[in-house]
Parts: sequence; structure tokens; C-alpha cells
Amino acid sequence: MRIVKSKQDLRALVSGWKADKQEIGVVMTMGALHEGHLALAGAAKADNDRVIVTIFINPKQFDNKADLETYPVDTDADLQKLEDAGVDLVYLPQVNEIYPKGYSTTVAVGTMQDCLCGATRPGHMDGVTTVVSKLLIQTSPDRAYFGQKDFQQYLLIQRVAGDLDLDVDVIGVPTVREDDNLALSSRNRRLSEEQRNIAPTLYKVESAIADLIRQGEAVDHVLEWGRKIILDSGFERIDYLEIRSEEDLELISDVTDRDDLLSGRIFVAAWLGNTRLIDNYPISR
Ligand code: AMP
Repeated sequence: MRIVKSKQDLRALVSGWKADKQEIGVVMTMGALHEGHLALAGAAKADNDRVIVTIFINPKQFDNKADLETYPVDTDADLQKLEDAGVDLVYLPQVNEIYPKGYSTTVAVGTMQDCLCGATRPGHMDGVTTVVSKLLIQTSPDRAYFGQKDFQQYLLIQRVAGDLDLDVDVIGVPTVREDDNLALSSRNRRLSEEQRNIAPTLYKVESAIADLIRQGEAVDHVLEWGRKIILDSGFERIDYLEIRSEEDLELISDVTDRDDLLSGRIFVAAWLGNTRLIDNYPISR
């Protein structure tokens, strides 16, 4: 497994592979890797001749300084996991490699931005779409893999790739969960034992909401019930608990056509202490 820190070294390796007609899959991460990230790497390995994993904690996508400062870093363990997973190349740029002095371009998507994490974390989505665009250009892959855990991010990146004519397939990989269905997240490492026991409530509420809606309960009523259960379980604050279209993130409510409702997805973000957890779940499951 090669480890490179500069875009020149990255380009040299990628150009060699392209000259040999090898197909390239990329997985972009912020490190502190877990089985969710490795599922993306596994999907990339199954579809491509070469797999690149990027590890870069992108300061532009953090709207909260404390979150950036306490974001877990575990590079040695990450590299071992990627080596074991059969990854060919790890790109580990420093901040000034991605944003050199004078850097001033932002990639911002005009739709699907003003809701969910885009509404509750100012600047976050622009930070994500900017860095992902740069990493797609730098790695020049045939396919790029994103977790459905960050569903809004996945849809926005599909939009960017289409709108900017990037010649890449953007592929969504289902969320990997713990045995108690908590979605794997690097931020789970920051949870206390008590918080870790509370965290699976998000999934329990999502799946109960999906059941109730399939049984014909009113959307507003079920969401109100869900918010109460989440707060009663010990979450301090809910950023959102909503049902939206999987296609364009349009809000779904009691006036929405029943077929559209059943094809919708539940989205939740809530705070346990200083840790913000997100999850989503399709109603039709
Ligand atoms: P992150 O390191 O949190 O920026 O995530 C890097 C990539 O891994 C993103 O595409 C995430 O959506 C994906 N990812 C994170 N957690 C999971 C998970 N539990 N299951 C599947 N993919 C995930």
C-alpha cells in the first residue's frame, strides 16, 4: 500500500494506472476509521482495479471549533486497517496541500442545501462539496463511494458530479450499524458509557415511526411522538426529525401523496452532550 501526501505524487501514481487502463475507486474519509468506512473500501475493491482512500480532516466543513479540535485522530490504526482491506493508495494531505495560501474557491450546490444538516450547520455543506470536488479532481476516479448515513451529502455530491460534468459514478453504500443498530460513526468514540446506551434510541424511534406511518398514522402526530421519546431518553436537543423525499429532499407531510410518503426517508440529528449524532431510515423498509 502506497501512502502519499502531495498531489504531485498522487497524480503520478494515478496517471500510471490510467495509462494501464486500470479502473479506480475512491473513498473519502476524515480518518478514525470503522467498519462503515471499510464497507465503502470493500465496495470500491469489488468494482475497481485500484482503490484510493483519502484521509483529511477538512476544516472548512466544521461549523463548531470544539468539534474540530476534538475530532478523533488514529492514523497508525487507520493505515493498518486499510492495508488489511487491500487498499492500494492512501492520500494523506496536510491542510495547506488542499487549501494553499490564497485559496478562495467554494463549490456550493443551489438545491437540497437549505434543509437538514445544511440548515443546522452553517457552511458545513459548502465545505463538504468543496473538498469532495477537489479530491475528485485530484484522484480522478471512475467511481466514488459515499455512505448513505450522510444521505444529504451523498445526494449533493451526485448533483455536483452531474452539474460539473465530472466523469465519475457516485455510488451510495448502505449504513453499517452496531449490533444494537447504532449507526457507526467516528464521533461515537466520544460518547460516555451512559451516552452510548442512549444513542440507539435514534434508530428505535426511526424504525417505530416507519412502522406507524406504514400502518396509516398521521405524519405530524408520529413525528411529535418521536421527538418526545428522543428527548425523554436523554438527548438534550434535536436539530431535526423529518421525513423527506429520497430524490430531492422535499419535505413530506400529511398532505403528501401516500405513495410519495411511503417512498420517503426519515432523517434525524440530535445532541448527546457535545456530540451530535445523525441517522436516516427509509419508510418502506
Ligand atoms: P467521515 O469519515 O465521517 O467523513 O465519513 C467518510 C465516509 O464514510 C462518508 O461517505 C460517510 O458517509 C461514510 N460513513 C460514515 N459512517 C458510515 C456508516 N456507519 N456506514 C456507511 N458509511 C459510513
